[in-house]
Amino acid sequence: MEVVSCTTKCTSKRNKNISMNITMGVFMKKIWLQNLMLEVTRDCNNEPICKFCLRGQKQDMYMSKEIVDAILNNDELIVSRIDDILFTGGEILLNPDLIEYIVNLIIQKNIPLGAFSAITNGLKLDEKVNRSLKSLYEICFAKHLSHLAVSRDQFHQKPPVEILDEYKSFHFFNNNLFNFEYRNFDDIARLGLAEENNISGSMPVPLFSHYQPSLILYDITKDDKRDIQYVCTQPIYVSSNGNVVDTCDMPYKYIDKLSIGNVSEKTIEDIAIIGETTPKILKLADEHDIYRARRPF
Ligand code: SF4
Repeated sequence: MEVVSCTTKCTSKRNKNISMNITMGVFMKKIWLQNLMLEVTRDCNNEPICKFCLRGQKQDMYMSKEIVDAILNNDELIVSRIDDILFTGGEILLNPDLIEYIVNLIIQKNIPLGAFSAITNGLKLDEKVNRSLKSLYEICFAKHLSHLAVSRDQFHQKPPVEILDEYKSFHFFNNNLFNFEYRNFDDIARLGLAEENNISGSMPVPLFSHYQPSLILYDITKDDKRDIQYVCTQPIYVSSNGNVVDTCDMPYKYIDKLSIGNVSEKTIEDIAIIGETTPKILKLADEHDIYRARRPF
């Protein structure tokens, strides 16, 4: 078992465990997130609401700065790198202050970021969001993977031409992604409003009734370092209320029902399982020349 395994699972043990780590010479815990997904709101401005919306009925719920702080501004578990961050909702443009806050935090904290993804219905322009995404793009080390896309099909309101024209001027705008003249019903999963409105096709649907989300963190701390370094290779989806699941494609009701923890109550380390570090993970860490394996004790 790794050094850190004994420090997980119970928040009440945290202070004792931190002291234990300090006694053992461990100073900081860091986490490399390969895929962070932030649901910035459950609200939407598409009228009427899309009949196939995977999420279900919209909700008047907005992610708070405290939820963001619990992930990106947390001294107990420092985010050392993000390969991809996704802004999702609901309609992300309805929470511009939060997007600006997240971007500023990533920049101020100097968190290495590979790329970002953002999807909007294109009904709104927001200078703050535009400015923030442009700044974020500048710091990405895998810029070509970054994109902003506008959902267009028979269920979405048509975005105003001037808004689309502005988006088209962005280096990271992807005009093809989620742009359908007509969305084929076969591409629609029987989830959320599609299920309620009986409009889905043959898209396979995960059986959430039997599904148990989980997050596995791997300890890839270097032998010669006393800081503990985790990597999470799975998606971490944080909902507007802080609930965590391991996939993006879930209706709100399942996110809340199947949540494996809430970031306002526990760190990601406490929510996750500490898995055995595999050769594949070590190779990945080595390739990035950042961390190497920590020997079990
Ligand atoms: S698909 Fe997007 S735009 Fe349509 S209702 Fe759902 S969140 Fe809103």
